[in-house]
Amino acid sequence: MKTMSKLKLITCLLGAAVLAPGASTGLPQNVPPPDHPVVTVKGQTYTPRSILARNMGTPEDQTAQFPPHKIIGNIYYVGTRTLSSFLIVTAQGNILIDSTYERNVRTIEKSVTDLGFKFSDVKILLGNHAHDDHQEGDALVKQSTGAQVMAMAEDVPALQAMKPGGKEHPIDRILHDGESVTLGGTTLVAHLTPGHTRGCTTWTTTAQEGGRTYNVVFGCSLRAPAMVTSAIAEELNRSYRFVRTLPCDVLLGDHPAQYNMQEKHAKLGSGGPNPFIDPANCTTEAEIQEAMFKAVLAEQQSAARP
Ligand SMILES: [Zn+2]
Repeated sequence: MKTMSKLKLITCLLGAAVLAPGASTGLPQNVPPPDHPVVTVKGQTYTPRSILARNMGTPEDQTAQFPPHKIIGNIYYVGTRTLSSFLIVTAQGNILIDSTYERNVRTIEKSVTDLGFKFSDVKILLGNHAHDDHQEGDALVKQSTGAQVMAMAEDVPALQAMKPGGKEHPIDRILHDGESVTLGGTTLVAHLTPGHTRGCTTWTTTAQEGGRTYNVVFGCSLRAPAMVTSAIAEELNRSYRFVRTLPCDVLLGDHPAQYNMQEKHAKLGSGGPNPFIDPANCTTEAEIQEAMFKAVLAEQQSAARP
């Protein structure tokens, strides 16, 4: 803090005031984030408050099972109404991305079972980012399945500090930007897209459907965290640029609203094309979060002007 310029310090402190309640830290979110600034992307308006409400929903939404469903190829949704968890099925066992809150692990297990798969076949557990609404349940998943838990190096300190009920956070393999994870012929690549957390991980893979191969992106959160230092601002700006370079036909996210899951799910079974194949909206979430980040900074800078 001592070495920060006055403006940077103001940005940091105001950033905390403006964005802290919107950070998905799992902390009590009883102070709603502000309803300004307002940004408009593709005809929809957003405020920090509306983005938080969209992502998290009600406490019931965070824990209630959403109908588990196939997304594309060997990729399935097994999360709650507002916290994503994805199952990737292979002939040599399955990969789970995100355990969410520990209290949701039995719900995720039920969704896996409802789809006709065995929870004990989860061999690898991956994570989106080290916040407890996405990875608090890792220890319980490992305890229940014996899965190998893999985490991006930059998120390891935050994960190690996450100890529900005093349980150590399991980490069996530490990953670095660009490394891949392979099981039963499916490969996922871990891309470091920091900013929201230091090790926020965007996962990419491919899926087959109807004789075609599709690029699938499991986007990491791109929302500015509570404390935006100049280093984190640089990370976010790099991440906003990087995610736009990824080949993408199917965008998924750590919160279903980031890819309009509910609307797309409602179209399943209507006989039309797979609604999750939506390349036109692959960068919409990045556009929303980048626009909000810039608007918050602009608001702070104009407030700081003498
Ligand atoms: Zn988060």
